[in-house]
Amino acid sequence: MFDAIVIGAGVGGLASAIAIAAEGLKVCVVEAADEPGGKMGRAVVDGVEFDTGPSVLTLPDVFEDLFAMADLRMRDLVTLRQPEPGFRYLYADGAVVDVYHAAADTIDSVRRSLGADAADELERFLSYSKGIWDAAAPVFVYGDAPNVKSVLAAGPAALAGLTKVDAMSKMWGAIEKRVSDPHLRMLLARYATYNGSDARSAPATLNCIAHVELGLGGYGVEGGMFVLVRALVTAAEKLGVCFRYGTPVSGVMLERKLFGERVLGVELEDGTALSAPRVVANADVAHVVESLLPAKLRHGIPVTETPSMSGYTGVIRARRRHGDDARVAHTVLFPRDYEAEFADIFDRDRPPAEPTVYLCAQEANHGRRGWDEEEPVFIMANAPAEPRRGHRDDSVYRTLGDVTMARTREAGLCDADDELVWERTPRQLATRFRGSRGSIYGAASNNQTAAFQRPSNRVSKVKGLFLASGSAHPGGGVPLAALSGRAAARAALEQRA
Ligand SMILES: Cc1cc2nc3c(=O)[nH]c(=O)nc-3n(C[C@H](O)[C@H](O)[C@H](O)COP(=O)(O)OP(=O)(O)OC[C@H]3O[C@@H](n4cnc5c(N)ncnc54)[C@H](O)[C@@H]3O)c2cc1C
Repeated sequence: MFDAIVIGAGVGGLASAIAIAAEGLKVCVVEAADEPGGKMGRAVVDGVEFDTGPSVLTLPDVFEDLFAMADLRMRDLVTLRQPEPGFRYLYADGAVVDVYHAAADTIDSVRRSLGADAADELERFLSYSKGIWDAAAPVFVYGDAPNVKSVLAAGPAALAGLTKVDAMSKMWGAIEKRVSDPHLRMLLARYATYNGSDARSAPATLNCIAHVELGLGGYGVEGGMFVLVRALVTAAEKLGVCFRYGTPVSGVMLERKLFGERVLGVELEDGTALSAPRVVANADVAHVVESLLPAKLRHGIPVTETPSMSGYTGVIRARRRHGDDARVAHTVLFPRDYEAEFADIFDRDRPPAEPTVYLCAQEANHGRRGWDEEEPVFIMANAPAEPRRGHRDDSVYRTLGDVTMARTREAGLCDADDELVWERTPRQLATRFRGSRGSIYGAASNNQTAAFQRPSNRVSKVKGLFLASGSAHPGGGVPLAALSGRAAARAALEQRA
């Protein structure tokens, strides 16, 4: 008998397990895959390990807090890196913009590449972006799932602050209003994709992501993002959490009570039952609702109809480059028409004809060593999530993969004979993460009320069931999924056994 069972060892599940076990409860994490990490995964080819999911770590303080719960210091387990420049943006007209860890260095760089007016626009934009973050983060990121009642209860000062979140404007429109340089517009609009959303329809509140990335800064992790996964497992194990890998859960066991259902534990695919009065589901919410709960409870939890973007991803074994030719940590190769990419994905529901290509040179970003002569370069192109029923034909993704590789080669970012050694299409992502439809960040934030529509971390109709993942409050991305885990843990700890 455990005090809590966590279904899934993704970031949200690990964070939840740590926060619950830190209060002295007995926790077991049950993971379908053979190792932890979930979407923050890794693969090994010819003895070289590389990340297959995230490559930028933001808001590291979220993790510092988690390690502290296990009396550990993050810096003893995880070394953060600040490669310079961090990002190189390449435009179809030949313009190049480098982004640095410190905002002041980025503004200087924009001055050199795009001119003084663009640099001034960026400086003003970052101040607007910080204003949104300062007002929005306590309520929509760090707090419990917001609803109209909780927002009103926050009091007049908090309500006045919320008018700063620019929720009634659209992200793209707010950028156009403040920034005239077309290159800078594209760079800033791209942050919608950090949430898998459409810059044309997402609320301008998402412009706070520019502050998170350019103001607070994104980091690499020495040895790769999976080092963070291993460190979180170390922290959890120090607190006595047990892990069972290769153990898919087939259902949440429930007991009918007078006013709804109560959790009894989980049933494993091999028929074994594990008892606990609390179950935290780190699996994608749609999988929990459609496969782990009885049909009669399906209407109690909102499953999104508008999943965030998916992505075609791959890893190239690319000839190592040296000196001035060396790869920068992250490269973004923009298309000629960026709005058309959003229109392809969200209006026409098809992979973009000319996708933005994102590359992460894992040696430069994470300081990890590749093969003798080659380095692992992660590539990604945005794509729509898989359909609600069925799936797209593989040939669609073959074309997207070919276009992505061709664009990478044409831009000189890899050589003609550099080989793709690992690949995951949106369809494969959807199969690996059940219920995700290949979506990377859970629900898209393509309307003003998206933050209120995300499933809360507490399931009101089922006592003892909690949701902790990128598809629940406060949403996707590594730090937010961890915060989802913490919010679920808070709710779970409030419940008396
Ligand atoms: C290609 C890619 C690039 C990304 N880039 C970034 C980035 O640069 N920065 C960033 O911050 N974020 C990025 N993200 C997003 C980030 O990785 C995710 O938001 C985050 O890792 C999701 O964590 P999660 O807690 O939702 O759990 P998940 O990663 O979804 O893990 C859930 C776990 O639950 C397990 N599970 C599911 N069902 C069951 C079951 N029935 N029984 C047992 N176990 C089960 C699964 O096997 C899985 O391990 C990226 C994601 C991808 C895929």
